[in-house]
Amino acid sequence: MLIKAENLSKVYGGGENKVTALHRASLEIAAGDFISIMGPSGSGKSTLLHLLSGLDFPTEGRLSYDGQDIYQLKDKELSAFRRRRIGFIFQQFHLLPVLTARENILMPLLLDKKREDKAYLEELAGLLGISGRLSHLPRELSGGQQQRVAIARALIARPDIIFADEPTGNLDSKSGGEVMRMLEKIRQKMGTALIVITHDSRIAQMAERRLVIMDGILQEGGAAR
Ligand code: ADP
Repeated sequence: MLIKAENLSKVYGGGENKVTALHRASLEIAAGDFISIMGPSGSGKSTLLHLLSGLDFPTEGRLSYDGQDIYQLKDKELSAFRRRRIGFIFQQFHLLPVLTARENILMPLLLDKKREDKAYLEELAGLLGISGRLSHLPRELSGGQQQRVAIARALIARPDIIFADEPTGNLDSKSGGEVMRMLEKIRQKMGTALIVITHDSRIAQMAERRLVIMDGILQEGGAAR
């Protein structure tokens, strides 16, 4: 797998209200890469994530997944592409409160009319330490457990890449650390690329490649350990 972003720019508004949220960002992501992106609030992190994952379109620039220009896909094709190839993890977990952990995890397969893969669900639950929690509702789980359910949901369709937006932002440092270690273990095991946006330099340090974004400009932030 190779994701290639070339000179992605995003400009909001016009005239006096013009904001350049992202300026000519280029990036290549290969299978299994672990990349962190740090930057202050308002620097363009969410904009970059939305563009890389096809949730939004750039003002200029190109994005291809294995040579396929995904901004050229029709709406429906793009949604299906995202469901199959991309997993998302959010700061706020975004679990559906009326569904059990198991039902939340299986939701992407249901939306894609795919059959549940029981063995894979059990493997993921085991790796994430939530095997005994699958019949619980989100409110019956701790924050760390909820995020681990969200990680299983992000992985259930076997995506090539996971985008995690401040995945530990709502957790104390102990459960945040745990969540990140599990995510890293799973990345190594499954070969899923992982892009993490974080404010936490300890989490950024876990990545093989560290990028920094300032005022919409994306730069390499330091060599791998
Ligand atoms: P971050 O995620 O690093 O906090 P964002 O990508 O959300 O930064 O925002 C980058 C810049 O773009 C900020 O100045 C923000 O105010 C601006 N911005 C983001 N979304 C919009 C929008 N929909 N309309 C206008 N300006 C926006």
